[in-house]
Amino acid sequence: MKAWRRPFLGAVAAVAIAATGACTPVRNPATGDTQYTSMSPAQEAAIGKDEHPKVLAEFGGAYADPALQAYVERVGRSLGQVSELKDQTFTFTVLDSDVVNAFALPGGYVYVSRGLLALADNEAELAGVLGHEIGHVTARHTAQRYDRAMLGQLGSLGAAILGGVLLGDAGAQMGQQVGSLGATAYVQGFSRSQELEADQLGIRYMARAGYDPEAMVSFLDAMDGYGALNRQLSGRSEETPTWLASHPRARDRVRDAAQTAEAQAGQGRVESAAYMSAVDGMIFGDSPEQGHVRGNVFVHPKLDFRFEAPAGFKLVNTPAAVLGKGPRGQIMRFDAASAKSADPAAYLTQEWAAKLQPQNLRRFEANGRPAATATAPVAINGKKTQALLAAVAMGEGRMYRFVFASPQLGADSAAFEGVVRSLRRLTAAERADAVPLRIRIHTVQPGDTIDGLARRMQVDEAAREWFVLLNGLQDGRLVPGQKVKLVVRG
Ligand SMILES: [Zn+2]
Repeated sequence: MKAWRRPFLGAVAAVAIAATGACTPVRNPATGDTQYTSMSPAQEAAIGKDEHPKVLAEFGGAYADPALQAYVERVGRSLGQVSELKDQTFTFTVLDSDVVNAFALPGGYVYVSRGLLALADNEAELAGVLGHEIGHVTARHTAQRYDRAMLGQLGSLGAAILGGVLLGDAGAQMGQQVGSLGATAYVQGFSRSQELEADQLGIRYMARAGYDPEAMVSFLDAMDGYGALNRQLSGRSEETPTWLASHPRARDRVRDAAQTAEAQAGQGRVESAAYMSAVDGMIFGDSPEQGHVRGNVFVHPKLDFRFEAPAGFKLVNTPAAVLGKGPRGQIMRFDAASAKSADPAAYLTQEWAAKLQPQNLRRFEANGRPAATATAPVAINGKKTQALLAAVAMGEGRMYRFVFASPQLGADSAAFEGVVRSLRRLTAAERADAVPLRIRIHTVQPGDTIDGLARRMQVDEAAREWFVLLNGLQDGRLVPGQKVKLVVRG
């Protein structure tokens, strides 16, 4: 959760307006197809420029590692230069997010998350991902997608909350949620045939830039492995948007890409050592800037607080809010907001939810901080119901806020109030435990084994599975002198 973001909603409206121009047939230099899009390259560039800061705000911001950023740019530029759009300016950004993701916007904006970078094994695999996204740009998929309506594609947990808890005008924050889901929808909107086309173009650019196209296949294998491990581990949301979800049917794509790459597979550069040194020291998993979920507990080391959701709740940390889903259809949302009033009861009734006329106002203390709850009418999936709203004063003009809804609010309200009461500062031990995990590169020594190295991994669970996955060791072979990724604290 990175609070105090600007709402994203404006972006969706702007896109809708931009997409109403006339359709002109254009022959695409990358695909040879005649395409109909309402957008000129200049309009694409303008939209990309406008969207870029909003995408950064929504997807964790740019990862603050200039050397890694420069490395990704260098690889990306080498691919852009051999594409059909030689004059296109490409802008590459590493996102500070552990969600495995990569996507492109009109105007040549290409994004890759550090979660995805952790999975790749060498520069050629990174080139496969960047080449694929560049393919979406050169084939003008990114522009075509803007010509379709994008609102209403909302799925998953977020949509349940949003569709959801339309808090009337009470939620400027809820508007923010609408916006963020809109953005998620537009990074997921490609068709199966567009995905294949992007794979083929990506492989073409890889080969032209001298990379081994086989790396496209090996990275898709890694994505499959990641998907399988993710499903196996508890507490990870299946609904989190990832490169997997937005680029469907990875297994088919592996096969298709392998066939396409056959002519050149096994030839070209892989650049394993350069890649390993580029990702050495990169944060793995949650960053302390954003807070993290551990089971049903949310911890934010930077802002120094934690709270505990009821047992069985699944929490998801998004840049705008922490969202939660309970076992019996309960939903919750947590975020922060600036407040004029220092009194949570006044804030709740006169600022946040003033137009909803909240009832049943209660004041109490949550670990020494003034808190208030009230009930208010909301619409959940079109049905009107009551939600429990809570505000906790954190000082310096800030309120932490919860929204809870449940098919049986009466039965759940004590548990919900317990969540509010659990909000507190971290202990010294919790702060120490919140030191982030990082990728550290280890050179395999004679006598090193997969099990031995896996024991040095400091991930919460499935250390051996993570070690094998992050290093592409499914065939179980370690060679002395080989560089491998470990994940350790500090
Ligand atoms: Zn794609």
